[in-house]
Amino acid sequence: MTHNELVDACVDAAEALDRIDVARAFIASLSSRRLDWRGVLPAYAVCRQLPRHEYAPTQVFQAGPDASCFICGLPSPSKTKVSGRLLVGNLGRAYYLETSLTTLQQFASTEKPVPKDEDFGMLTETLNRLQNRNGAKLGELQKLIQGLFPSNKFEREDFLGALAIAGIFQLDAASYFDGWVTYDIRESVMPSHFYAKDSSHPLRHYKPDCGLNERAISFWFKDLHNSN
Ligand SMILES: [Zn+2]
Repeated sequence: MTHNELVDACVDAAEALDRIDVARAFIASLSSRRLDWRGVLPAYAVCRQLPRHEYAPTQVFQAGPDASCFICGLPSPSKTKVSGRLLVGNLGRAYYLETSLTTLQQFASTEKPVPKDEDFGMLTETLNRLQNRNGAKLGELQKLIQGLFPSNKFEREDFLGALAIAGIFQLDAASYFDGWVTYDIRESVMPSHFYAKDSSHPLRHYKPDCGLNERAISFWFKDLHNSN
């Protein structure tokens, strides 16, 4: 797909979905460990904020004929291959549009999962644990939520990356919850701790004393338990 085709397709794919179905799939992924369901929320959280736009080259990275777009990071005029790969693992990198597009399109055509009571319990307990985390550092977060839902270390780190994309942490960094984060900002504004740079944006900007964003938690998860 060309730059414009892929951007438009992502915006269309997000517009075609219902936020409630997306959030429910994320919750239902907890007990079932369905990582394909878990990837839908971060993909949607990114694509719902993506503006339709024309390609414009990066202003902070190497320019050239194939330079990345400063808004979305896609190259132009060369085409991006949409290979049909779903966003499974590396959920914090949902801003790779080709993977998120496939994830949203595939989800649109499948039956929507319904979380069980157990799933809601797991989500509530996880958010409580993150709310009361006593200054846990970034590297300690996955350990903090260990045992709350079936998962290994990498899945928990991914889960945290997805929550960060959804805007659950109140961070100083630009957030996909409040709007679009340009490629130039995302890839050039880095935390001072070198180890945090291994995490994706915006989780890499996590601070032990940051709060949770109640607006974002309500937006995604409020009133889902008993609604049909
Ligand atoms: Zn672009």
